Amino acid sequence: MQLGTDIQRAKSLLQRGELVGIPTETVYGLAANAFDGNAVAKIYEIKNRPQFNPLIIHTNSIQKLAGWGIHLPAQALLLAKHFSPGPLTYVVEKSALIPDIVTAGHDSVAVRIPNHSLTLELLALLDFPLAAPSANPSGYISPTTAQHVFEQLGSKLPYILDGGACNIGLESTIISFISDMPKLLRAGGLPVEDIEQVLGSAIDKTSLINNENPLSPGMTSKHYSPTKKLVIGLVQDYLDTYKPNEIAAIHYAEADAYLPLQNQFILSPEHNLNRAAQHLFAAMRVADKLDVKLIVADNFPQNGLGFAINDRLKRAATT
Ligand code: AMP
Ligand code: MG
Repeated sequence: MQLGTDIQRAKSLLQRGELVGIPTETVYGLAANAFDGNAVAKIYEIKNRPQFNPLIIHTNSIQKLAGWGIHLPAQALLLAKHFSPGPLTYVVEKSALIPDIVTAGHDSVAVRIPNHSLTLELLALLDFPLAAPSANPSGYISPTTAQHVFEQLGSKLPYILDGGACNIGLESTIISFISDMPKLLRAGGLPVEDIEQVLGSAIDKTSLINNENPLSPGMTSKHYSPTKKLVIGLVQDYLDTYKPNEIAAIHYAEADAYLPLQNQFILSPEHNLNRAAQHLFAAMRVADKLDVKLIVADNFPQNGLGFAINDRLKRAATT
């Protein structure tokens, strides 16, 4: 069996320099021993990931990070008290133990403690961190179930730990602590409002506006994309160009009156942005497989996880 919950098997594969699919609360990861440059090189190869796009390393404790020479500055430690394990990634100074291939040659490294019981158990057994990007071909929609990973990378992976559907469903929020003021590098599964509340001050969001920013390598304007054309807006604006059965819709809470119901994905009838985030990527995948020509997605409220949902949809809509 290639899918299962055998942590010992995952551990021995990772120790031997093999890759393993792992569940997290954000999305599924494609994991390798971060200290093993050859194992990490396989991640780039299997995902067809550009070499300039650095990886996040995952472990189960801040103490272990310190033992490897990776230290969180005070503001990061404060956030870690509230949000780790959780969907928050800290970009901090790299240590010599981390091979350059992990950080794409940068002096900084991105670290996270994921909040998933199976993966935390695995990480506790390891004396190395796991480098793990999302377990999908570069540029495509991130996987939120083990089945998603199996469908796309199954032929290239010896094992996928199956931890069920991801609780959050969006990639982590990334903050850089390299300069004095914390900088948001990627909107994600932890709302910025929550972070600012704990810090008691605003964080720098200017990096999000400039996609060519060297501080956020890999945050390209086109990303997280289905194969079908995706637009953000109202279904009725596209009915002159497409027949109703040629369109799929991703709606926040309510169906529209124009499309067949089987072409409509309602992410949260109760208007809950956390629920909508959980279902977003799976809905995009199913919509992408329908016999349609266009996917129309709603504009989501710009608060809470709506901010990251809109970010992903905008990148998916970029051609
Ligand atoms: P993924 O693993 O696909 O979720 O993407 C990880 C993202 O983390 C990259 O695309 C970068 O934007 C960001 N990242 C990782 N390492 C660093 C770093 N050292 N400095 C800045 N951003 C980073
Ligand atoms: Mg990714």
